[in-house]
Amino acid sequence: MFPALSSRRWQPALPAKSRYFDNAATTPVDERVVREMLPFFEDGFGNANSIHGSGQRARAAVELARERLASLIGAEDPSQILFTSGATESNNQVLRSFHTVAVSPFEHSSVWEPAKTLGFEILENQGLTFKTPGKTVQLLSLMSVNNEIGTIWQPAQMERYAEFVHSDITQAVGKIPVDLEGIDFASLSAHKFYGPKGVGALYHGRVPPQTLLIGGEQENGLRGGTLNVPGIVGMGVASDIAAQEMCVNHAHVLELRSVLLDELRSCTDWQQNGGDRVSPYILSISFLGIEGESLVVDLDRAGFAISSGAACSSHSTEPSHVLGALNTEEKWARGTVRISFGKYNTLESALDLSDSLRHAVENLRRMN
Ligand code: PMP
Repeated sequence: MFPALSSRRWQPALPAKSRYFDNAATTPVDERVVREMLPFFEDGFGNANSIHGSGQRARAAVELARERLASLIGAEDPSQILFTSGATESNNQVLRSFHTVAVSPFEHSSVWEPAKTLGFEILENQGLTFKTPGKTVQLLSLMSVNNEIGTIWQPAQMERYAEFVHSDITQAVGKIPVDLEGIDFASLSAHKFYGPKGVGALYHGRVPPQTLLIGGEQENGLRGGTLNVPGIVGMGVASDIAAQEMCVNHAHVLELRSVLLDELRSCTDWQQNGGDRVSPYILSISFLGIEGESLVVDLDRAGFAISSGAACSSHSTEPSHVLGALNTEEKWARGTVRISFGKYNTLESALDLSDSLRHAVENLRRMN
């Protein structure tokens, strides 16, 4: 089912979807999404910018997807949705559209790194909030749900400090209700809500962003490049499914989370990160006296996928800039893991995970 890339290369056993607890890194593509994408690799392969029938069919599918995504995030008009290759591109595009920008200290690296490179202000944290900019800036960027610790913020409250507000809503879309009131730009990726990878969107309200990828008239000249029709179609279907199932999934992950936390009560020397207002989909916990990476490896052996800190930076041994911004003591930061829930996890798998987690923590502490 999963073809080996090379028979000589070692392939780890894959966890069942129910034992995959790294849904903030990416989610499995919903079968219904795959089914609707397939025809666009086959007979429906047309270029959405061609004027012949093949192109027009692709165009119609793209516009339907735009409507579906607009409806999921509550955009007033589908024309406010610009298709991109994902949240990284969307974040880069919006940051490069302005000269004076301030970003929160908790942003994903696809906001934080461009902000550093472009010499923009990174606001100083005060616990889980941050100091407001000294002078009014053109753009302020504040994510709605943090990908590492799950903390929820209210970007619309930033309106008074900047002409325009941008919010990275990647970890919120399809999971918790998104409110675009007071938000001028919003970035997202389809693969975080059971859609395909490599496709996403940039929502824009009052003004469009500057063009980042120049060299084509696609997307009203705001983004050159042939449209990823199957991917866009997949994101549209995933949007519809998310809209219909958001409440059920929310209740489901809340239950799994509370079961897991209950089971962990018998463990000693651990803490939960992210404060009181967190997305139920993301659970960041730190265990004293162990390395998060070792816990990830041990759980992988037991057939579970979890993550140490943020997946995007999991190859780095440096504590993440988010835990850094929170002044988390190194002894806690080192032992941090992220468990992120999804609709395919089951109660049974959450109970199994808590067992394995407890055993692995005890073993690792004993070995130290
Ligand atoms: N923003 C946030 C909050 C994310 O969690 C991610 C993915 N980890 C991204 C942006 C980047 O998404 P992508 O890699 O799909 O471009």
